Amino acid sequence: MKNKYKTNSDLETQEIGEIFSKEIEAGDVILLFGDLGAGKTTFVKGILKGLKFDGIVTSPTFSLVNEYNALMNVIHIDCYREKNKQRWINIGLEDYFNNSNIVIIEWPEIIMDIIPKNTIKVNLKHIDKTTREVFFS
Ligand code: ADP
Ligand code: MG
Repeated sequence: MKNKYKTNSDLETQEIGEIFSKEIEAGDVILLFGDLGAGKTTFVKGILKGLKFDGIVTSPTFSLVNEYNALMNVIHIDCYREKNKQRWINIGLEDYFNNSNIVIIEWPEIIMDIIPKNTIKVNLKHIDKTTREVFFS
């Protein structure tokens, strides 16, 4: 896959997530960067589709952590509403990082020092109402 994409709809962003899902493996930690509405959760829906999860995928904004039993076990985390690092440690965040999970984190900025060093970073950039750019690094 390329390391930069342009997308013109949420479905296209899901398709990029689906393509990306073919490249990941258990144990991977994926960090999603980008403003509110940039398409992070939409991208995760595509990843889960690619991993053959056919249920409903929702934003973990309020639940903080959603877990999906797909082809691989996917842990979807959103730090937007919980910016206190100690609470994430108390929740047991670090236990999720192991070889049986794919961990995907939205708004990881405040917990960077308790996340493994080796991660895949995805940046979503809001260009206009329906256009986004997606960068992988
Ligand atoms: P985030 O998780 O980054 O806050 P969401 O994925 O929840 O963002 O929301 C993205 C919003 O932007 C949705 O309402 C979606 O329909 C809309 N949207 C419009 N164009 C796109 C696009 N190209 N990619 C992703 N989302 C888009
Ligand atoms: Mg989101």
